[in-house]
Amino acid sequence: MKVYISVDFEGISGSTSWNSTNLGDIEHGPLAREMTLEAVAACKGAIKAGATEIYVKDAHDSGRNMDLSLFPKEVKVIFGWEGSPASMVCGLDSSFDALMFVGYHSPAGSKGNPLSHTMNRRNNIVKFNGKIASEFLMHAFYGQSLGVPSVFISGDEALCGHVHEYNSHITAVAVKEGLGNATINLAPEMAQEKICEGVYHALLNKDKCHLDVPDSIELEISFKDHFDALRASFFPGVRMLDEYTVSYMAKDMNDLMTAKMFIL
Ligand SMILES: [Zn+2]
Repeated sequence: MKVYISVDFEGISGSTSWNSTNLGDIEHGPLAREMTLEAVAACKGAIKAGATEIYVKDAHDSGRNMDLSLFPKEVKVIFGWEGSPASMVCGLDSSFDALMFVGYHSPAGSKGNPLSHTMNRRNNIVKFNGKIASEFLMHAFYGQSLGVPSVFISGDEALCGHVHEYNSHITAVAVKEGLGNATINLAPEMAQEKICEGVYHALLNKDKCHLDVPDSIELEISFKDHFDALRASFFPGVRMLDEYTVSYMAKDMNDLMTAKMFIL
């Protein structure tokens, strides 16, 4: 069994401030260690479930947050950014049996996490066909378009509810909860234990975790600044809905993720 684990930062236990998400910040180190250990816990669960090939992507900001030395020997870790439409799941292809997400967070437009956002902090909300979309949804749909089911996610509690709107069989583990500009966090030992057990369980149920990807998707982005909407409007096929909002009708997920590279 060959599995892919994409790891973000704002949904790991303890992450609370924007400063802490920046490589080099004094708060970043201990949280980057927790990001590594939650990813390692997912790898251990996958190995227990029979995974023989595991690719882990450091998918936050610089893509250079985790400590390679702490991973089990079965794992290959992807650092940095390919610069392709695959974005936070670069290197994923149809040879993988399952896709998993660790440290993921609520999308822009959600109060589920003080660090809620979708790809960057320039937008207020991103929608697919009129419904709030997330980093999870875009990469899970992208994986599904390659035939790879998304079987597991860990992050904030509100994100788990969002994921279950698309498939209730996906194992979702909440390691933190947003409380206004505060967070309630599980102790690392508990968070890592739940992730390890969750991944093991998820891989045994992976065949129920396929998603229905719409035939075409209207990507709508509402920006905080009018000039970002103006800039995006010059991409071929993009329409301006109002001074802050643009829309792009994507013919498939590869088309959507390609447009996203330039307009989001
Ligand atoms: Zn993110």
